[in-house]
Amino acid sequence: MLPQWIIEKKRNGEVLSDAELESFIGGYVRGDIPDYQMAAFAMAVFFRGMTPEETVSLTRAMMNSGDCVDTSGLRLPKIDKHSTGGIGDKISIPLAPLVASCGVAVPMISGRGLGITGGTLDKLESIPGYRTALSIREFLAVLQACGCSMIGQTDRIVPADRKLYALRDVTATVPSIPLIVSSIMSKKLAEGIDGLVLDIKCGRGAFMKTREDARALAGSLVQVGRAMGKRVTALMTAMDQPLGRTVGNALEMGEAIDILRGEGPEDTTELTLRLGAEMLVLAGVVPVAGEALPLLRRKLDSGAALATFKTMVGLHGGRIEVIDNPGLFPVAPVRHAVSAPRAGTVLAVDAETIGRISLLLGAGRTKTTDRVDPAAGVSGLVKVGERVEAGTPLATLHCASQDRMEAALPLAGGAFVIGDQDARVSPLVWE
Ligand code: URA
Repeated sequence: MLPQWIIEKKRNGEVLSDAELESFIGGYVRGDIPDYQMAAFAMAVFFRGMTPEETVSLTRAMMNSGDCVDTSGLRLPKIDKHSTGGIGDKISIPLAPLVASCGVAVPMISGRGLGITGGTLDKLESIPGYRTALSIREFLAVLQACGCSMIGQTDRIVPADRKLYALRDVTATVPSIPLIVSSIMSKKLAEGIDGLVLDIKCGRGAFMKTREDARALAGSLVQVGRAMGKRVTALMTAMDQPLGRTVGNALEMGEAIDILRGEGPEDTTELTLRLGAEMLVLAGVVPVAGEALPLLRRKLDSGAALATFKTMVGLHGGRIEVIDNPGLFPVAPVRHAVSAPRAGTVLAVDAETIGRISLLLGAGRTKTTDRVDPAAGVSGLVKVGERVEAGTPLATLHCASQDRMEAALPLAGGAFVIGDQDARVSPLVWE
């Protein structure tokens, strides 16, 4: 079938077959189908949507566009976690070694930050020497040695997504559930996992702003994963205020290490434990999530999870001394404390504005080729519900130059709401 007939079928709202989607994706990756035809196809999917069966076929075709990691040599259950991204979301970093220390393999292929959301790879690279670009052989060797490894995408894993995502970005076709689901799930399923826990963020600092949208995305991700024979669970979690008290690469690494020491902020620790518990259920380590919590806490308290993290960092070439001495992380020369203008209760900390501030400070990138400043970001963030006095620091901003500070500071006033009424603190995990 000619590519234009496949586009026409989707444009008319008809259902595409497995073979049609396979040939379209295959043709695109080989270069037989040009970007303009793929752009028309993506727009047709954007308006017409896809049936669950079509979304599964598209995901499979994307996954098969490149190599899949062969993890069959690892005897442990292989479970990963994927978050749809939020401000201050450093959970993958303590979570992978924590779950690995419970006898589960965690093969994590992560992304870099773009726009206001940070990326796990950028955070890990703030550890001097840490290599995120391992070959698949090295990745498997690290997994074998310590149970977890965190690397970046390789050119050979889901090349269809690499091309298609860049095209969607410039053709206004990113926010389409079948395209998002096939993009996320093809990459996760190519890791060779048995199961996946999804953290679907919802709120002002998230991709999905409403519960309805977040629920629809969660439902489709779970459905596709299960249809492809994997164990999949999703938690819907709040992203109105940033997670934890830091945003920015090295600053978030410091907090991730605190979580592994059992000294992390309440919310990031709770989310790490909740997601870890779901991973242990999917791995068959415990029958229900409630039974996982004492085990996970023991692994934090005994130092076992931290020891696994150190081993992983060392195997990736990172300087493990920074883990015991966070003072060795890059430090920003320019710092400024934002003070409360009045006494009261913190009613809101706007995740989106904090994300924009971090971007202006240099912690993020606006295009994929930008370099991030590992030391830039925000620390000491107050949390909704806390009581402050006039002059209490609400956060400290960190960056490389006075110019950057002057660009970011005007936004700080709009990031915090302080009032006299009781704060409405929404639960961290909704569903
Ligand atoms: N993340 C992805 O990997 N793909 C999307 O389409 C959206 C978010």
